[in-house]
Amino acid sequence: MMFKEIIHYFRNPYKSFETLKRLQWQKLQSVLHYAYAQVPFYRDRFDRAGIKPSEIRSASDMFRIPVLTKEELRDAGFDILAGGHNNPAKLKKSTTSGSTGQPTSSYFTLRDWFILKFLLKYRSKRICGFYPVIHKVVLVNANPEEAVLRENKKIINKLIRKRSVSINQKIEDHLTVYRQFKPDVLYGTVSYFNELKNFLLKNQINWLKPKMIFTSGEINYPQTRKEIERVLGCPCYDIYGSTEFKEVAWECSHKLGYHINMDAYFVEFINNNRHVSAFEEGRIVITSLVNQAMPLIRYDQGDTGMYTNGGCADGINFPFMHSVTGRSMDYYELSDGRRIAPFSLVVAVHECAAHAVQQFQIIQKSSDLIVIKIVPNRQFTPVIEQNLHKRYHQILGGNVVTRIEIVKEIERDSSNKYRLVRSEFK
Ligand SMILES: [Zn+2]
Repeated sequence: MMFKEIIHYFRNPYKSFETLKRLQWQKLQSVLHYAYAQVPFYRDRFDRAGIKPSEIRSASDMFRIPVLTKEELRDAGFDILAGGHNNPAKLKKSTTSGSTGQPTSSYFTLRDWFILKFLLKYRSKRICGFYPVIHKVVLVNANPEEAVLRENKKIINKLIRKRSVSINQKIEDHLTVYRQFKPDVLYGTVSYFNELKNFLLKNQINWLKPKMIFTSGEINYPQTRKEIERVLGCPCYDIYGSTEFKEVAWECSHKLGYHINMDAYFVEFINNNRHVSAFEEGRIVITSLVNQAMPLIRYDQGDTGMYTNGGCADGINFPFMHSVTGRSMDYYELSDGRRIAPFSLVVAVHECAAHAVQQFQIIQKSSDLIVIKIVPNRQFTPVIEQNLHKRYHQILGGNVVTRIEIVKEIERDSSNKYRLVRSEFK
């Protein structure tokens, strides 16, 4: 059975866009029928909206199904599990870190876990030139003594030459692992590789030369990535996904955007109850075409982004997702009611001061106060500071005060991560 899945998923990226659209629509319709028949939560939801799955005949009909929010998913508990798969003990489970509130868990059958956690991830990485037997190190958010050591002792991980390091360990400890294990591939967050890059530069370490880096879980800032690629001497590929869905879209070496795994997800970009056009920003709402244990229909990721249709030099016909400009919770709300994507503020620091800043963090303190903490290097001058003030004034307008604080280091937050943008104001 798995053999059939492997062939199916490995052929799909090269099928024509029309064939893929048809395949995606068939899968979507069967998910809607399945959810209505098997999941009381969705049956109730569809009934209340006065709709039957058979009445969804085009993409615009999808608006008749209400968007599923994070809160609704949390409140649904086990009611969102499908009949036949409603014993969580028999399912694979992923739990969000809970940094945005209470943690929520997603459940998967073994087959779907294999497709989402292995097949699709391997497919995209294979297209980037990755082989399963090369040495890889994954950054995980775990207690170093326990989970990481346990992971590293597993025979399967030894066989596939995979090691884990914990975000709770020091960079020095990671370097010990890298030195012994000589990884070809590193996985982690952009902010981690930014920290690693700064450490390597500061300590003039130049022996760490992986062949590729995969990042995920954060907004990927182009300038930061360029710096990481320069210092570590290899390409950096970003992945867009979530705990609930796994890998939704991914970059290939042509870097034209993120190829959307359209054979596993129905991704909508919406604004005011309509699907936006290509290059127009919209909220990202996703339906899983794979997860049978816990169907997710029109789930709001809390992110915004854009799409364009595919056509890539590697022959892949999946459409592209572009510049996810902000997780919605990270938007800065200003006193005049405007909402600013912190992305523009980060890009402004890159434009004005990239060469003069080792590290920085942008914090919204109130509806009219933004603080930029900067760890400067020797190139930092009062002129750069003035330029930064001017640029922020252009973006934020006259009512918002920008304060630049020169600091020795940027503290990590409670989950031990560096955050490029933060808000202390709600
Ligand atoms: Zn491509």
